[in-house]
Amino acid sequence: MGANFYPEAKKVHALLFLLLLGTHFLLYGRVCEAAPGGAMEQGTFVFLDEWGRPSAPTKGAYIRMRNEQWRYLLGETTYAITREAGTEPPFCGRFAAGKEEGFYLCGDCGLPLFSSTAKYVSGTGWPSFFAPFAPQNIRQSEDRSHGMVREEILCARCGAHLGHLFPDGPPPTGLRYCINSGALVFVPERLLQGKGKDGNPLERAVFAGGCYWGLEQKFEKERGVKAAFAGYSGGTVPFPTYQEVCAGRTGHAEAVLVLFDPREVSYEELLAKFWDFHDPTTLNRQGPDIGSQYRSGIFVYDEAQRKAAERSRQSLAESGRFRAPIVTEIAPEKGFFFAEEYQQRYNEKHGLSGGCGRIP
Ligand SMILES: [Zn+2]
Repeated sequence: MGANFYPEAKKVHALLFLLLLGTHFLLYGRVCEAAPGGAMEQGTFVFLDEWGRPSAPTKGAYIRMRNEQWRYLLGETTYAITREAGTEPPFCGRFAAGKEEGFYLCGDCGLPLFSSTAKYVSGTGWPSFFAPFAPQNIRQSEDRSHGMVREEILCARCGAHLGHLFPDGPPPTGLRYCINSGALVFVPERLLQGKGKDGNPLERAVFAGGCYWGLEQKFEKERGVKAAFAGYSGGTVPFPTYQEVCAGRTGHAEAVLVLFDPREVSYEELLAKFWDFHDPTTLNRQGPDIGSQYRSGIFVYDEAQRKAAERSRQSLAESGRFRAPIVTEIAPEKGFFFAEEYQQRYNEKHGLSGGCGRIP
């Protein structure tokens, strides 16, 4: 009798449970799924390191996602160009003019595609380059749409449509890579080399405190912080993808690279903010996000940073502010790898604040 006495109540409990679970993932969880087909197929690419230097040709996973995922991640304008082979009107794109020194990255996956050193004014109204950043990073395909035969240019890592290739460029190649601004993002070279707008030196710090979306947004708003990037640190695989990191195969933590002006804010002050921005007492976990990629960590560039981080952690532990022990690791910074462009400034792009949202 007991087992069937409250069948309706049981149903309600089950429904409530599912509803709570669904809401939990909708609000806080991040879907970590491997590329369609499961295997993470590899290509060879030239990446940009955190100092703005090109890597040697390096094996890296392709990035493949469903169109509805891209649509959500990119927004309508970029999606129409990169995923539906659209073309922006001439003379309208934000990179049509301009000659600041730096790198043009894939607006979808962040792979470096062009450098300002190969940019020139073609008069066509679209950003034009006579060579790619690295031949490995571009893929070509014959395009027979609109009654013409053209060479389509795609990002070799994620398949984003970028524009077309024409044989009427300047020396030394005679080629014109005609690209949509909306398919690109720009990173100034000086920033990665640690120089502020007026040439003043910037310092860098790397913090890991759970999902990088919230941490990046919080540091970005701090006084003296000139840029913050989401990325991966503390692992063993160079230039990993999010899918590889979240599958727990690389040992990386989700981390944030902070470039700051020491005249305006000190490393010690950023350490104090870091303790405010996350919970340093939960091992391999921040809120609902569980896994070693969500560990709390400070990755230090030199002895001075290591000493400052240890002093700061010690005084936090002695302050009694947290009941549980501080589990934050302090480790040498051995390579910070930029996360994909769709992971950068994620909260800002999606109107979120705080922790993590969900990729559908
Ligand atoms: Zn790409």
